[in-house]
Amino acid sequence: MYKNKARIKEIKARKVIDNRGTTSIEVDIITTNDIMGRASAPFGAPGSKGDFEAPGYPPGGVDEALRFLHSTAIPQFLGMSLMVQEEFDMMLHEIDGTPNFARMGANLSTILSIACAKAAAETVGLPLYRYLGGAHNDINCWPILNTIGGGPHARKGVAPDMQEHHLIPVGAENFEEAVFACRDAWILAGEICRKKFQTFTGGQDDEAAWVPPINDWEALEVLEEVCQRFNQKGMRMMIGIDVASGNLYDKKRNVYVWQKEGVTRTPKEHFDYMCKIAESFSMYYMEDIFHDNDFEGFAKFTEKFGKKMLVCGDDLLVSNFDRVKQAIKVGACNSLIIKVNMTGTLTDTYRTVRLAHENKWIPIKSARSGETEDAVITQLAVAWRCPLGKFRLAGIGCVKINEQLRIEEDLKKVVKKPNFPYLL
Ligand code: PEP
Repeated sequence: MYKNKARIKEIKARKVIDNRGTTSIEVDIITTNDIMGRASAPFGAPGSKGDFEAPGYPPGGVDEALRFLHSTAIPQFLGMSLMVQEEFDMMLHEIDGTPNFARMGANLSTILSIACAKAAAETVGLPLYRYLGGAHNDINCWPILNTIGGGPHARKGVAPDMQEHHLIPVGAENFEEAVFACRDAWILAGEICRKKFQTFTGGQDDEAAWVPPINDWEALEVLEEVCQRFNQKGMRMMIGIDVASGNLYDKKRNVYVWQKEGVTRTPKEHFDYMCKIAESFSMYYMEDIFHDNDFEGFAKFTEKFGKKMLVCGDDLLVSNFDRVKQAIKVGACNSLIIKVNMTGTLTDTYRTVRLAHENKWIPIKSARSGETEDAVITQLAVAWRCPLGKFRLAGIGCVKINEQLRIEEDLKKVVKKPNFPYLL
């Protein structure tokens, strides 16, 4: 009976534009009860995408993905029930026929999977976070705000070498206070940069983070100043980074090239530099500090710092169940980034989230660059109990923050502040 509630009547797809001006795809799944699930997904930046994540599109790009959708996928989906997410996602795997969505691309499979879940949630009259997460959601997703940008999201050699430098308002009392503290801290960071670095014109990167022409140490000093000013006002603010080290790593020479800083570091020197950063600033979050396959380096670092901060794997783990299992075995991190289009379906990604929870690793939801206006990650973050999430503030990032504020309003009576694992 439940399964017959909604079957697929029609699937429409169109090209849309993402926030970088790149072509993306949006799909609508329309059901026999005339409900629609609509989805589009961000892509990630070349240079920032992990070596081991599923390919976003087949070799012929968006056009080839759309041809595959119309000629092969849609005919097989028509008439299928969308009330059992796992069956729908299994069907996506069967239709594609490769281990990693190489034929349709993981961006297309992701948006079909999400559109299915949205239509099913609407059919039973629940917000997506309740349909996927159940009745007992009580955690909203605390912001880790990308404040100063660089790396693959900005111009190499001009902006900082690390991709993201974050602020985390751990002292705020609730999500709303956290968001507005982030907003004030982001404005303050921009002002400090303008004052300190005369050539900074106020430019922002792909994710609305400031991109002053400074190196990473200087960027961290700016954030430290912001933290101190907030601490003086009685709100504890901490710092995070996403080094996106895979982008700095030169495989052939086995060195990390810091172009803006004008320094090349051996893996040992790079490790020591990460330790120096961990010890010199108010660090609470360090992501992708070593290259995409350096489980050993991560394990060594986590051994040293994993009891006082979040050591997070994104490009190392690519939300992939087997890679996370391997990382857990060797103690490579204590947290991981969750991005659905790294695996290609909600079911595959949730399997990884469950593995993380079972092993007391912290799942951190993340927006991606090349964003669309689909705010689904906010719903997933609550459904999957991610206590923290990477946010961007201005531009299209505000769509997601505002959606998270609406969810907070829904949850107001029950929502709890995360207890910030490992924060001393
Ligand atoms: C990231 O690496 O966490 C990120 C958000 O970048 P991208 O979306 O470009 O992969």
